[in-house]
Parts: sequence; C-alpha cells; structure tokens
Amino acid sequence: MNVYDGERMGELLGEKGLAPAPEGEDADLVVLNTCHIREKAAEKIYSDIGRLTKGKTQKKAPMIAVAGCVAQAEGEEIMTRAPAVSMVVGPQAYHRLPDMLDKAVRGERSTDTDMPAIAKFDSLPKRRRSSPNAFLTVQEGCDKFCTYCVVPYTRGAEISRPFSHLVDEAQKLVEAGAREITLLGQNVNAWGGEDDAGRAVGLAGLIHVIAKIDGLERIRYTTSHPNDMDDALIAAHGEVDKLMPYLHLPVQSGNDRVLKAMNRSHTAEGYLKLLERFREVRPDIALSGDFIVGFPGETDAEFEDTLKLVDEVRYAQAYSFKYSPRPGTPAATMDDQIPQEVMEERLARLQDRLSRDQLAFNEATIGQECDVLVERKGKRDGQWLGKSPWLQSVWFEGEAQIGDMVRVDLIEGRPSSIRGELI
Ligand code: SAH
Ligand code: SF4
Repeated sequence: MNVYDGERMGELLGEKGLAPAPEGEDADLVVLNTCHIREKAAEKIYSDIGRLTKGKTQKKAPMIAVAGCVAQAEGEEIMTRAPAVSMVVGPQAYHRLPDMLDKAVRGERSTDTDMPAIAKFDSLPKRRRSSPNAFLTVQEGCDKFCTYCVVPYTRGAEISRPFSHLVDEAQKLVEAGAREITLLGQNVNAWGGEDDAGRAVGLAGLIHVIAKIDGLERIRYTTSHPNDMDDALIAAHGEVDKLMPYLHLPVQSGNDRVLKAMNRSHTAEGYLKLLERFREVRPDIALSGDFIVGFPGETDAEFEDTLKLVDEVRYAQAYSFKYSPRPGTPAATMDDQIPQEVMEERLARLQDRLSRDQLAFNEATIGQECDVLVERKGKRDGQWLGKSPWLQSVWFEGEAQIGDMVRVDLIEGRPSSIRGELI
C-alpha cells in the first residue's frame, strides 16, 4: 500500500511540475513515506533526516516531508524533534500535499493528520502511467482491532472505495500500460460496494467485472482476513481465469488461546478449513501467510502449534515477524512479554520450516511451462525477471522487454526464485 501511496503522491506532485529526481542526484524535495507496523520505523526516519541534512547548508538541503503511518502516529512530535521537516502528512491526507508544499515554499511548516473518509481518492489525478504490474487500493483501514496492531489507529476505520471509481481506475491503469492489477486493502476482502444497477457487490463481484477489461491479463488481491472470506471469492478462483492461483491469508498463530488473546476471532481449525476450500476449487493455488512469534504469554507448547499448522499447510511463501509492542495497543501492556532471545529462537525455527516449504513448492513447479510477466532487467546483461502465476520470481535469459508476457520453462527451483528458459 505504501508503494501505491508513493506513486499517487508522485502523480500529485507531478501536476505541480515536479519530476522524480534521477537516482543519485540531489532532490529538491524528499518525501519519507513510512510504516508504523513494527518498531524502529520511527527511529529510522530521524536517522534518514540526519543523513539528508548532514553537512548541507540550508539552501542545499532538500525540503523534507514525512508521510505515512509514522506521520499519522507521531504528528507534531516529528515537527518538534526535526526542525528540518517542513511537512508531516498522514496516509489519509496526502491529497493536500500540493497545498502544504505551497506553504513550505513560503517558509510555513504544516502538519495534516486528518482522516476524511474518501476525499483523498476523489482529489487524486487520473492515472496516466503504470508499470506492467500495478497496485490499486480498493479498501483502507481496519475495524478488527487485533490486540497487537496499530493499523486501526493509523489508517482509521474500514472504508471501501466506490465500485465505479475502481472500475474506472482499473481501466485507466490498463490504458496506461498495466497488464496485472493487484487490488489492495488492509482487509481487502472486506471491500463492499454497489454496482451500476445499485446491487450490492463484494470483492468477487468487483473481480468479475475488472476481469472483463481488455488488455488486463492478471488479477491479484491482498491482504485478506479469514473472517471476511465469502463463498463468492472462493468460487471466483475456479471461475475467473485472470485471477491468479495465489492467496495471502495471514493466520498469525496456530494456537487458539493465542489467537483469542490476539482478538483474531478465528481458530486454527477454521483457518485450515478455509484453505481446504480454496484448494478444492484451485488445487494448484499457492498459499501464503503472516505469522507473529512471541506474542505476550505465548508458551513453547503454543508456539509448537504454529509449527504444526505450518507443517499442515505447506506454504508456498510466507512472512514471519517477532512480536513488536506498539504504543497504544492492548498487547503492549499485557503481562508476560516474551524476551528477545526467545522470540529470536522461535523466529529462526519457524523461518527454517517456511524456507523448507518455499523451496519444496518451487521445486514442485519445475518441469512445467508457464506465463511470466516481465517486470525488470536481471543483474546480468540479457537477463530478465518476472513473476509466475504463483507469484514466484522467475529469471531467464533471452529477448524480452519489460511488460511482455512470455512463455517460460521452469528449470531449476531455488529457495526464493526459479531459473527458467524462454520458450
Ligand atoms: N490485515 C492483515 C494484516 C495487515 S498488517 C491481517 O490481519 O491479516 C501485516 C502483518 O504485520 C500482520 O499480518 C502481522 O503478521 C504483522 N504485524 C502487525 N502488527 C504487528 C506487531 N505489533 N508485531 C509484529 N508483527 C505485526
Ligand atoms: Fe491489524 Fe490486520 Fe488485525 Fe486489522 S485485521 S488489526 S490490520 S492485523
């Protein structure tokens, strides 16, 4: 989502005549777009600000804006601690960046951490440029209040962008060069709207309509929440050819007591049953998840349940994190915070299994041919990198261009990539 927001801020500033600074060149304005999901992000901005201003006279130092969820959470504190910052703008208010920039040029510093529901999207420019794999935010915010998580506080309540706006933005993205669109939301499958005839539609309905856009070849969505999953979305994986065989469905823990303490309101078994239903309609689906180890009070035996769940699912890919106490969340003040070394040991064991399964998944696809959407050049001349339908990174050599959809033989499975040969 930060990539999406970053692109939109770039487009807004583009309308004011700004252009991206070539790499390695001094920029006149630097926007630090931040994430608050785990700690250290805040400290990182202060060191980035130091690096940007170090040894530079006021005239040479770039103007600095801090955006994103750290800006939302820390607001005025950033202004006080970092006099070099001219603008602090939250993730729901960045459409006001051009006005803030005008003020900054006049020497006025400003902070905007308002959360107007949908105004931001309405005031963003039309999409004119797109990479082959584009992001499209359909839903923002979260009402779930998992006890460890800051998202409901920084991104605000769940809102769904209107159906017609999304179909229009998807169409514009395709006209601008997108061949794959990833629909985004903190809980993307909570998206709901009304179609042109006033009928209620959920994410599956939106996917069916977007799939009709000529020139669009692939659709993905992320991140889903187990509780918002509906029959239509599961069925869509068997019905819509353009919907890629990949599902990112975070579980966090394999133990029901921990899940309850996290306020996840799903059980390990309920989660496994859900995955089973996806596998029924799409047997080759690549499954992905998120995990937190060392949630307050997590015992060794409870952690073992997470390993058991992993053994059962055999994820194609996954993200795993040490629990990080976030200010203002209920878990941050719970008893029994787990020591760092225990978290580290658990994380290493979990990641060992996840890497084992990722390699196994990659190796199991060897011998097949598949479409690869070319995203960028590889390290060496003539090398290209792209994604398989299962979101694996595939690299190959030969004649290609960014944005091509090419047929590739999958030749060699590595831990986090696949070597392919162009057909
Ligand atoms: N809405 C999605 C996840 C969004 S946050 C969901 O609920 O499934 C992305 C991931 O960051 C979460 O799935 C979780 O694994 C991780 N995360 C969130 N808060 C965290 C914290 N305080 N410490 C460690 N990891 C955290
Ligand atoms: Fe955070 Fe996801 Fe839970 Fe919402 S559902 S509070 S975003 S982890």
